[in-house]
Amino acid sequence: NTDDGSILSVTGLTKVFVSGGKEFRAVDDVSLSVNAGDVLGIVGESGSGKSTVARLVMRLIEPTAGRIVFEGGDLTAKSGEELRRMRRHMQIVFQNPHSSLDPRHTIHSALAEPFLIQTNLRGIELERRIDALLDIVSLPKAFKYRFPHELSGGQKQRICIARAVALEPRLLVLDEPTSALDVSVQAQIITFLQELRQRLNLTYLFISHNLAVVRHICDHVIVMNQGKVLEQGTTESVFAHPQNDYTRQLIDSVP
Ligand code: ADP
Ligand code: MG
Repeated sequence: NTDDGSILSVTGLTKVFVSGGKEFRAVDDVSLSVNAGDVLGIVGESGSGKSTVARLVMRLIEPTAGRIVFEGGDLTAKSGEELRRMRRHMQIVFQNPHSSLDPRHTIHSALAEPFLIQTNLRGIELERRIDALLDIVSLPKAFKYRFPHELSGGQKQRICIARAVALEPRLLVLDEPTSALDVSVQAQIITFLQELRQRLNLTYLFISHNLAVVRHICDHVIVMNQGKVLEQGTTESVFAHPQNDYTRQLIDSVP
């Protein structure tokens, strides 16, 4: 971590997409910082650039401009093996567990994958780790023999979360982790994510358009609109004293 206690610090992050010869600034000069152990929420309506920020932070796509510092190291300056090693400590969970899991492969192979790619763990040790992961997400060990279509949406998302924490990351980026799930399952997953954070000592970058959930679990909040940060602060201050009309409208729309 850096001197100011932040595990992730992003400055001037910008992403310009070019399609059909036209430029589109999906993320425009975004700066943010996440304190170790905190939950930072990013809110904003659909298309405001939240997922693009997530993918930039994970280095799944290249920024047009900006700097990403993770645990004191400049991610934007890294590549190859060095980048891969740093990335081990940051993982992402996407909105849709149905598309995150390969339907042709068992849960076992989904959970084995991070170990096979990034470690030398094999055989009985690997089995123990897979069982432990299932235990962490409160699913029966026998689930490893199932295929994704034999699991409910919530169970599939638990598998995606288990896979994301397999290599003991310190930062978890959660991009609308419950938006594709039944309402009845959403609260379960949110409660589970909160327990998990305590248990594994994780830091979350939590993207959501559900402001009720954000208010409930985030320490700090960033409000995005059209690729820009409109406002940021502690959850309490942003919800109690929104600085602009856009945020006020977002908050007022919470049931
Ligand atoms: P959010 O997650 O807040 O809904 P996104 O980050 O997914 O928003 O998208 C922000 C904007 O960037 C949208 O207008 C989207 O259409 C555009 N966008 C995202 N990815 C691409 C891409 N690969 N090429 C062109 N435009 C994109
Ligand atoms: Mg999105």
